Amino acid sequence: MIASNVHTHTVFSDGKNTPEEMVTAARAKGFVSLGISDHSDTPFDPTGYCMEAKDYPRYVRTLRELQKSLEGEFELLCGMEKDYYSPIDASLYDYVIGSVHYVPDPQGGDPWSVDMSRAVQEKYVANCCGGDRLEFARRFFDITVRHAQKETFLIQGHFDVINKFSLFEEDDPAYQTIAMEALREVAKIVPYFEVNCGAMYRGYRAIPYPAPFLLEEMHRLGVKLILSGDSHDTASLDYAFEETQALLKRTGFTSLWRLRSGGMEEILL
Ligand SMILES: [Zn+2]
Ligand SMILES: [Zn+2]
Repeated sequence: MIASNVHTHTVFSDGKNTPEEMVTAARAKGFVSLGISDHSDTPFDPTGYCMEAKDYPRYVRTLRELQKSLEGEFELLCGMEKDYYSPIDASLYDYVIGSVHYVPDPQGGDPWSVDMSRAVQEKYVANCCGGDRLEFARRFFDITVRHAQKETFLIQGHFDVINKFSLFEEDDPAYQTIAMEALREVAKIVPYFEVNCGAMYRGYRAIPYPAPFLLEEMHRLGVKLILSGDSHDTASLDYAFEETQALLKRTGFTSLWRLRSGGMEEILL
């Protein structure tokens, strides 16, 4: 049992629960650690799902106080899910998840959301990629590689979130090539990749990210995986963890990693 989840959101960004409520739920589930990783600020955030930079000090202070009150009882980690377009001071956090949520607008407008809806994705393909879906994939994975190259983070977040709405056939060789080339670059740099069950809980996907072909390549490359819920409420803290561990075992993985206050810990499957 992994009994840990360090990709979670609270009322500081677009989560439903407070940090205290997330801690209470994690302890009730028998977790050994919980990390909170609210969304970093993006200035063009259209839906208000991110924190605003002015709230970072209050966020850090709240989590550090809660962490202190739990000392010796429960391991709470103060993290952040950092977007490509958000500069942050990583030294303020126990860990950072690096994620890409936007692709650039070639006409110089605001970047476009990758994971808001299939309608937005299709509009981007039509308006900004001349109708070529693969160009959208190239831009997304290009940004993903550049993010890893220019920033330091511990965990690669939802590597192929671009396929949240199944815009691409995951067995399409052209799509696979684009994703795999990016994977090989990012895997050289980022120490851990997450297997993210968030879209399963929300009913978008029957299986986690990354897609099976990427998990197979990760296994070949010796990538270290953590399991995450990308949880926006207490109910999803360990949603689909058991079946995902079984899936990883079938893919050939013999262990997973989980983040504790002392660092990453290997858990045999
Ligand atoms: Zn994300
Ligand atoms: Zn997230």
